Amino acid sequence: MNIIFLGAPGAGKGTQAENVSEKLNIPNISTGALFREAVAAKTDTGLKAKEYMDNGGLVPDGITVNILKERLAKPDCENGFILDGFPRTVPQAEYLEESGVVIDLVIDIYVPDDKIIERISGRRVCPMCGASYHIIYKPSHRGNICGRCESRLIIRDDDKPEVVFSRLETYHGQTEPLIDFYKNKGVLETVIGQEEVDDTSKLTFEVIQNFNAKTKIE
Ligand code: ADP
Ligand code: ZN
Repeated sequence: MNIIFLGAPGAGKGTQAENVSEKLNIPNISTGALFREAVAAKTDTGLKAKEYMDNGGLVPDGITVNILKERLAKPDCENGFILDGFPRTVPQAEYLEESGVVIDLVIDIYVPDDKIIERISGRRVCPMCGASYHIIYKPSHRGNICGRCESRLIIRDDDKPEVVFSRLETYHGQTEPLIDFYKNKGVLETVIGQEEVDDTSKLTFEVIQNFNAKTKIE
């Protein structure tokens, strides 16, 4: 099963994607995480991507498509995968189609802008293992230390308030049109992001179960 998670930055799609990835035992591919790895490793791609990421803009489609293509070629993607943060533009979605990647389900996690701002300002991430937390909604049980690998948690550069506004603008301008794009293809389901992560997870799994039930009947 190939699933795309859509949603504004901070809507919680990364958390849901991770969760579904574990339950369905298929890899979760986050282009944001791939870029952050490339930045940390100081590769050519990383150096190019960093300036766009730090401004809250999108990395150009050519670079993004390449990093995704490399990842999708790995054998663990054969039995399905989750895309978190790709596509983010209509041309990226068209690229998937043109390369024959079949998308079964697109789950849009909807959260209004004012909530998004509140959430992002509390977000903390682990620079070592990539785990993501929120000081109120999903605190690490070890405080400012990662519960998984014991590294000190950080605020991502692009989670700083001045960058958050421009990321939201980018989302509304460039990524939101994908909702109609996938609605027209009949694969879009919307999940309203809840206060509690577990409640959003329940709704997300309902959508997946409904999809599975439907495809069995057909
Ligand atoms: P979030 O979902 O919280 O915005 P991500 O970790 O998905 O954060 O992405 C971080 C940054 O990486 C984005 O702001 C953007 O600059 C870049 N990026 C990630 N995915 C894409 C993509 N599909 N196209 C272009 N840029 C991307
Ligand atoms: Zn960690």
